[in-house]
Amino acid sequence: MTLKPSPRIADFVDEQRLWRRHMDMAAIGAIGTDGVNRQALSREDIAARCMLIEWAHRRGYRVETDSIANLFVVRPGRNNTLSAVATGSHIDSQPSGGRFDGIYGVLAGFEALECLDDAGVETDRPIAVVAWTNEEGSRFAPSTMGSSVFAGARQLDDFLNVTDSGGAPLHAALATTLDSMAVDATYTVAPPLKAYIEAHIEQGPVLEARGIDIGVVTGIQGVRWFEIEITGRSAHAGTTPKANRSDAMAAAIDAINRVRLAIEDGDERTRFTIGRMEVVPNSPNTIAEIVRFTIDLRHPDAVELETYANAIRSICDAGAGPCGISCRELLSQPPCSFPELMVDTVESAATSLSLSTIRLPSGAMHDALFLASICPTSMIFVPCRNGVSHNPAEFAEPSHLANGARVLVETLVKLANNEQ
Ligand SMILES: [Zn+2]
Repeated sequence: MTLKPSPRIADFVDEQRLWRRHMDMAAIGAIGTDGVNRQALSREDIAARCMLIEWAHRRGYRVETDSIANLFVVRPGRNNTLSAVATGSHIDSQPSGGRFDGIYGVLAGFEALECLDDAGVETDRPIAVVAWTNEEGSRFAPSTMGSSVFAGARQLDDFLNVTDSGGAPLHAALATTLDSMAVDATYTVAPPLKAYIEAHIEQGPVLEARGIDIGVVTGIQGVRWFEIEITGRSAHAGTTPKANRSDAMAAAIDAINRVRLAIEDGDERTRFTIGRMEVVPNSPNTIAEIVRFTIDLRHPDAVELETYANAIRSICDAGAGPCGISCRELLSQPPCSFPELMVDTVESAATSLSLSTIRLPSGAMHDALFLASICPTSMIFVPCRNGVSHNPAEFAEPSHLANGARVLVETLVKLANNEQ
């Protein structure tokens, strides 16, 4: 008689169920054939939350919320006085978003809970699946409100009077959302957490291009924003000789070229973007008086990021010929490195399932950035088509989504049983 190998917990991940749940969610706020518009605290966001709550109650999970309407679905552990292990992401989307950004992390977490039920597995610690409020920041700015308040990096009061483009204040949208959710409890899932793991589509092209199943995320790169303003003198484009020109555009082009040269790196880890430029008076036959542009600079290494930021400042300090130049820093978010033990736990879960892996930093911000400041954190990336996201064309293969959920459930069990 041959003994059949005992099934692994991850074998209970149901690819069809996970895919169906994505399509059910995508129907809420659907735009066109594949797009989603489910902005934070909107009718659509509330409907999606209520659907998740209904699924959770059918499974007998406890549903909780907090003052900023972060939504927690909790599968109890053997000892519920122990701090929870959390996983999740966000339900809200960009106005012209796709079917996977954010919601995948929530649904992969929910799949992990269902998988544990189906496998008949208990864990020592409770496991909470979280939908963080307003990750995208497209309706109410800034982004990552829910996770930043949960982690104590920001205060709820800072956000209550923020309005959307129609003038609706956040406090009203928040009250409607809180009233609409049939929750069982408030505030039992709170810091400290034992650990946090977020599954997300990569939103970049690396995994797909290399045919890799799982991205083991080592951290989130840092971001610096600068606004550079160059001031010249407007004059007639045809009559003003070179010696008499204070041409803000010529000075801006020169400064941009110097900055681009200064941040040229060999390993292409730097991300440098000038995404906005304003020209005054912005007339084809007038020399520009003012050119104002932004620089978005990102790098996973704090020292290198600082070096490049300093290079930008010293180029501005060196002046702009006959023009004035000023440099204002608008945002400084240092890179975050996930703890080696957490990265290892994700990696070994994937390897034990015979999935191929690569370690990579996240190019985009995620809720995990704030969780990393209060508990051991890591992320799991799965491939997405052409690296496209924030776009209705966003697509991830059902089998890739299921692979990520398998790695997630194996990782959660280890963390919830203190086996790492
Ligand atoms: Zn996202």
